Amino acid sequence: MSTFTIAIHGGAGTILKEDMTPEIEEAYMNGLQQALDISYAVLKEGGTAVNAVKAALVLLEDNVLFNAGKGSVFTKKGVQEMDAAIMNGIDLSAGAVAGVRNVRNPIELATEVMRNSNHVFLSGKGANDFAIKQGIKLEPDEYFFSQFRYDQWKAIRDSDNYSLDHTNHHLEELLRDKKFGTVGAVACDVDGNIAAGTSTGGMTNKKYGRIGDSPMIGAGTYANNKTCAISCTGHGEMFIMSVAAYDVSCLMEYKGLSLQDAMDVVVNKKLVAIQGEGGMIGVDAEGNAALIFNSAGMYRGVKNNRGLAEVAIYK
Ligand code: ASP
Repeated sequence: MSTFTIAIHGGAGTILKEDMTPEIEEAYMNGLQQALDISYAVLKEGGTAVNAVKAALVLLEDNVLFNAGKGSVFTKKGVQEMDAAIMNGIDLSAGAVAGVRNVRNPIELATEVMRNSNHVFLSGKGANDFAIKQGIKLEPDEYFFSQFRYDQWKAIRDSDNYSLDHTNHHLEELLRDKKFGTVGAVACDVDGNIAAGTSTGGMTNKKYGRIGDSPMIGAGTYANNKTCAISCTGHGEMFIMSVAAYDVSCLMEYKGLSLQDAMDVVVNKKLVAIQGEGGMIGVDAEGNAALIFNSAGMYRGVKNNRGLAEVAIYK
């Protein structure tokens, strides 16, 4: 049997052990482990890479600890606007949504766009109306609220017009540590088909209408059976400028690099050169996986049928 693999991330950034309590750390590790196990079970039963990716992401969206679905960050206006994308490496079909509100699982909506819309990318009200038409589950604003994200937003919501007082360590820490938290998954199924998906609330205090890299095919999410499936997390603007996920695919296709080497070039050279903090996870159609980041930490996990099983947070 060929190798089947799932890899997930729950965001990257300045995640330091000294800032964690054992309880919070355990909660994150459990959240990652559950998502890994549920999507691994899909693959083990012969399910598709797309379904494995979706299963992991629904669970992570429902987990308030991660910045996607429930627990998404607040925009400058104090609401949640979420982005998500999914891509199937078999035929390059893809679905993405941006700036959606009140959608319980944006990754479900992105999948619906991929399968049933004749389009690839829907945004704002059009995406929300499509969700209603397709019977996608909606939730009231309160569902998405988390005290932790609210406090984080409150601390910086007025900061737009000021340069930050860097002597205020608490504020600086809030800004540094907690701005990422997106969730992503990539999978290679028993048939050697690969898929990628990413879902996010974006960045705290983002301007309303701002769209990050996560839902942009080629920037934060990409999958092609010929090369790789990639999901990114980090400072989205730089990932968009780098067309980061597709660049990994190009390095593999045109330069013959391995998955690991291609991701290393993009994350540790190209993104670093433009201060693009973050990381990415990837698989290829042989079931190889790589999880690479240039930040202090990245919530992540990987599991395959050859005995690889890991969940980790720090470098
Ligand atoms: N890349 C996401 C964005 O810029 C943020 C993240 O990865 O946490 O919207």
